[in-house]
Amino acid sequence: MTAALPMRSVVVHCHAPGGSSLPGTSTLSMPARRRLALALASLGLPALARQPLVNDASGLNPVSVDRILAPRTVDEIVAALRAHPGPVSIGGARYSMGGQIASAKSLHLDMRGFDRVLRFVPRERSITVQPGITWRRIQAVIDPHDLALQIMQSYADFSVGGSLGVNAHGRYVGQGPLVSSVQAIRLVLADGSLVDASPTRNSELFYGAIGGYGGIGVIVEATLRLADNTPLERRSQIMPLSVYRHFFATRIGSDPNAIMHNATLYPDDYRLVRAVTFSRSRRAVTLPSRLAATGGDYRTERLLREVATQWSLGKAMRRRIFEPLFYSLDAVEWRNHQAGLDIQSLAPLASAGSIYALQEYFVPVDAMERFADGLRTVLRRHRVNVINVSIRHAHKDPGTLLAWARTDVFAFVLYYHQQIAQRDRDAVRAWTRELIDAATVLGGAYYLPYQIVATPAQFHAAYPGAGRFFALKRRVDPTNRFRNKLWDAYYTP
Ligand SMILES: Cc1cc2nc3c(=O)[nH]c(=O)nc-3n(C[C@H](O)[C@H](O)[C@H](O)COP(=O)(O)OP(=O)(O)OC[C@H]3O[C@@H](n4cnc5c(N)ncnc54)[C@H](O)[C@@H]3O)c2cc1C
Repeated sequence: MTAALPMRSVVVHCHAPGGSSLPGTSTLSMPARRRLALALASLGLPALARQPLVNDASGLNPVSVDRILAPRTVDEIVAALRAHPGPVSIGGARYSMGGQIASAKSLHLDMRGFDRVLRFVPRERSITVQPGITWRRIQAVIDPHDLALQIMQSYADFSVGGSLGVNAHGRYVGQGPLVSSVQAIRLVLADGSLVDASPTRNSELFYGAIGGYGGIGVIVEATLRLADNTPLERRSQIMPLSVYRHFFATRIGSDPNAIMHNATLYPDDYRLVRAVTFSRSRRAVTLPSRLAATGGDYRTERLLREVATQWSLGKAMRRRIFEPLFYSLDAVEWRNHQAGLDIQSLAPLASAGSIYALQEYFVPVDAMERFADGLRTVLRRHRVNVINVSIRHAHKDPGTLLAWARTDVFAFVLYYHQQIAQRDRDAVRAWTRELIDAATVLGGAYYLPYQIVATPAQFHAAYPGAGRFFALKRRVDPTNRFRNKLWDAYYTP
């Protein structure tokens, strides 16, 4: 890994906590489990103490489940659903941060080992996979054929199933939510039946399950559209936020060669942005690796994150010194390389008393400056320790019931540091609710994979399609088997 890459990772995207954990291994550590077991036993709950725990990347959501099954075949999933009459929860790579993967006393399906490529015909530019596979593993299969994923998140460590569950998005110009790149899915429903769904076949199930946070059924197969893997040249410009929307519309959104783009809105002033664009290039690559390495040495990124988090001048140093230096370097790299960022560059997301957490808000394109004004006011008033705000554009969602992009939107991704004592969590709840209001009053939404703090009224304001989603759930999951902390919070069977 070059020195440059680590730095880019720190600056462009930042996310959350980790305890011991790489998010993918986020069940509690053995000593922590032992302590919890002792505590539960001392409360007279020894049976609970024996039950397995499932946790996510934040480390904040240990959930005691009845049993964990790591299936390897569809038949095992079907048989488990038929044999187990109670609640079922589904986990992918476990990077959601609010307990969206688990519910108390459920049968937990740990999908991480259900991860084979089922069909790949390069000339058709599509691939069919099992949902436990990560983007990184798909990249390794398609890269030799000069193909890339059409849409994925900023990091390559997420599972396809979890990404479909949240209907993720990335930094792709002219694209939108992940659902736009999905040709078809196969689902196992609550009664154990197997159903194929696509935009034209069982379309309500397709648009309900994608972005449905495991509430409709288990996605057991997905067919994804692929794109060309081309060299990308990086360009970056600094500008006032007030001109950014026009800049994006005239110079980026309309440029067929612009492939990836995002802007950093610098805290704590929130008036200046650095726009970074990766455009198709005929130049020779300056970073020869076709895929990003994993297991790199990320001490530089961690140090820079500490500086930005802890030092009073840290954020100014980043804007005035580190980033100008970094962006002065020439960079032409393969699309798969740029798309393959390693989430370990952000580790640890959680530690003893604090976490690096994420939030995201979506607002209609013409409301972006008004939302940024509200964001600035709320974050400054509450003295939130924001490391990074990344702005991205996404096209309108084609029809998911829980769409976060009901029109073309700008997304504001917050990466911030928080303590985790109860009073700190209460403080986060307060400012998060203010930001949710600031987005929804403009016709926008907040993103659901993070800490669950929205009131039911806020959830419904941000997701007006929830009524149809819940009606579908009642039909296909009448006894409310598919659960997790998100649906336990907002769904009443
Ligand atoms: C550091 C960091 C960076 C991030 N960057 C981005 C980003 O750039 N863009 C973006 O959109 N999001 C981003 N996110 C959010 C991330 O996309 C989601 O948390 C996503 O769910 C992670 O995938 P996962 O495999 O870990 O999912 P999990 O957390 O394991 O699962 C997410 C949801 O999907 C459901 N699910 C999982 N597998 C299945 C299945 N087979 N069938 C049905 N339901 C299933 C789960 O029940 C759960 O509700 C980021 C998160 C972090 C921590």
